[in-house]
Amino acid sequence: EGAPGIEYVDRRAARLLVHRRERNAHKGSFGHCLIIAGSTGKSGAAAMAANSAVRSGAGLVTLAAPAALNTVLEIKTTEAMTFPLDDGGRGLLDETVLPLVMQAAAGKGSVAIGPGLSWAPETACLVRQLVSEIEAPLVVDADGLNALSEQIDVLKGKRSPVVVLTPHPGEMARLAGLSTVEVEANRLGVAREFAARYGVYLLLKGARTVVAAPDGRIAINGSGNPGMASGGMGDVLTGVLSALLGQGYEAFDACCLGVFIHGHAADIVAAEKGEIGMSAVDVQEHLPWAFNNLI
Ligand code: AMP
Ligand code: MG
Repeated sequence: EGAPGIEYVDRRAARLLVHRRERNAHKGSFGHCLIIAGSTGKSGAAAMAANSAVRSGAGLVTLAAPAALNTVLEIKTTEAMTFPLDDGGRGLLDETVLPLVMQAAAGKGSVAIGPGLSWAPETACLVRQLVSEIEAPLVVDADGLNALSEQIDVLKGKRSPVVVLTPHPGEMARLAGLSTVEVEANRLGVAREFAARYGVYLLLKGARTVVAAPDGRIAINGSGNPGMASGGMGDVLTGVLSALLGQGYEAFDACCLGVFIHGHAADIVAAEKGEIGMSAVDVQEHLPWAFNNLI
């Protein structure tokens, strides 16, 4: 389907991507994800990213978040471990935690940065240093993207060979220095150009999410529905992607399978209870069925 050179991710294509589990597998076979997320008022974004990684097959998940949120996050996440970072009781992160986070990132299968981190300038500084120094496969979303928008050349100095950015159209506009209208008028072109220029995997979200690889490959996702136009849906996608990267999926495959699974889980929810009242946690909790439909 679709134009030449553009892949279309439907259930048939996604089925070819999903890894089956070996009989003798153990949790070490499926990677350890580190998720750096959360600030006061946005603990839910951190929890959904971590829980969605758990629901997407991650072997282990560690959620690094401001210490002020730790009690709440211990309760909101059961399978994930939390790693409270000293925040002087302020509920947001700054550069002083950089050495600790770098230690935590060493040897991880993937690292995700962004959900609910806040716009605070000191947090943005931390994000930019992490994005330049971390070597593991990296997912940057939400406030992580806002931090990059202020200093986009940070991407040119990145160490990680696999950096996945997941902007919605507003975030894409800030990253590329365009208006949202310009982004929406040329979704394929904007995604392809940005991915090539900065050597990143770019997921331009919205109805029909576009996946662009640094080498020019492009895919369009066929799953999902307008029930997903509500808060927290992007945080779920971040968790899915970090789990897939942590499990060793090739980056473009992880992106294509991740966006399909995310939308497909939402389609399962919509079939059950409709588009209007569905929530991001509903989608998170249906990820297992979405994977199971591909096996
Ligand atoms: P965010 O704006 O970061 O919460 O991300 C929203 C998520 O929901 C993205 O993965 C979008 O692709 C998805 N989404 C939002 N609206 C729609 C829609 N109308 N159709 C399909 N997917 C959507
Ligand atoms: Mg978002």
